[in-house]
Formats: sequence, structure tokens, C-alpha cells
Amino acid sequence: MAPRKLAAGNWKMNGTLASLAEIDQLLADHPAPACDVLICPPAVLVHAMAQRADGSKLMVGGQDCHAKTSGAHTGDIAAVELKDVGASHVILGHSERRADHGESDADVEAKAQAAHAAGLVAVICVGETEAQRDAGQTLDLIASQLAGSVPAGANAQNTVIAYEPVWAIGTGRTPTNEQIAEVHALMRDKLSARFADGADFSLLYGGSVKPSNAAEIFAIAHVDGALVGGASLKAADFGGIISALAA
Ligand code: PEP
Repeated sequence: MAPRKLAAGNWKMNGTLASLAEIDQLLADHPAPACDVLICPPAVLVHAMAQRADGSKLMVGGQDCHAKTSGAHTGDIAAVELKDVGASHVILGHSERRADHGESDADVEAKAQAAHAAGLVAVICVGETEAQRDAGQTLDLIASQLAGSVPAGANAQNTVIAYEPVWAIGTGRTPTNEQIAEVHALMRDKLSARFADGADFSLLYGGSVKPSNAAEIFAIAHVDGALVGGASLKAADFGGIISALAA
């Protein structure tokens, strides 16, 4: 089985019910895309978006979940709760969660286990800061984040990995093709060494992907799609990325 191609959108803390009009437009423009398409809106929109997407190829996901299934955790959301309202995926270990909420690899691993137990696909993010890249630590860091964040029960069906250099997120800057290729080859090697179906995990690149650079990035070996922030908010932009991936 070859890795599935996936265009995943991360709306972050953007969007209201009115923003679901973008979904209507996306579905009208891309009723049967030749790749998987996922949007992860703010948690309060997951249910409404899932209902809007019902019967289409569009999948809906959360942006985080708690490691426990229920309990006294004010403001948190359980993986089973995301699943209950129609989510199929959940982003875990995004650099904004790691930075803003101090999430460690062990936290991400525990959340991924909860996601798997709930029947969600975990989209696990890894990536280096600019200082870590400048210090020549990128490959060691990615290997260590993968080892610490991806649980033993992961497989190509329940887990997607997103390489997101922190310095490329929302900045308009992207790594060179060689830099992306080097990290994706490392991730493929590490996953293949650890998991029987490591060759089949979808590996996404994320960080300032837009319609104008998507095709070039998707041509890089072991890049099976993208995790897209800003350019996922507008149907026309995200649609351009879907077209590039499905080509
Ligand atoms: C992200 O936040 O996952 C991301 C890749 O953002 P952007 O596409 O805006 O750089």
C-alpha cells in the first residue's frame, strides 16, 4: 500500500459559523478530489462542519485532545468527544501547543494513544526551531520527537506525521527542497525501522504552503501531502493546494 495523499487544513483559532461558507465553496469546487482532504476547525465548529460535510469526501478533525477520556479538566476536550461529534482526525503536538502549553513528547504520545483508542487518526507534528536548525540539531531533534511522540500502537491507518519547521509556520518562509527531502527521508527511515508498515505512513510537510509553491513541494520524495494553516482558510487557496496534490 502506498501512503495516502492528504491535504489537511488547520484553521487554528480562526473562524465562526459564518466561515462554514468556505466549506460549501470547497465542496462545490472539489466534489471528488483524488486525494484525502481534512479540515481541523476550532473545536466549537467541529460538529457543525462535520454535519455540513456529511456525505462528501471532506473529513473534519480537532486541533488537540486530552489524554484522558473524561474528568475534571476544565476547558479540555477528550478524543472520544471529538469522535462523538463527527471528527475523524486530531492534530497533536503542533508547535503552537508545544510552545504555548508546554506540551512534551510524552504528553503528545499519551494524547495519541487516547486518539487511537477513540478511533481517531492522530496527525502528530514534529519540527525544529530556527535556533535548532542553525545549531545543526534538526535531524537529531526530529528523530527524538518521533521516538518520543509516536506511540507503539501507531500504524499507517491511525497515524499521520507532519514535519513543520517552527520557523516556517505562518512566516512565508519555506525550507529548501533539499532540506525538506532530508527530513522526510529521515522520518521514512525511522518509521520503517520501528513499524512493520512504516513505509505506508503519510508524511505531510507544513509551513507556509500555498497554491504557488504546493506542486514543487509535493514533487519531493516522501512528501505525501501538506498540513496547511493560513492558506486553508479560504476555499480558493486550499482548493489550489488540493488540485496540486491530486494532480
Ligand atoms: C500550521 O500551523 O500548521 C501551518 C503550517 O501554518 P501556515 O501554513 O500558515 O504556515
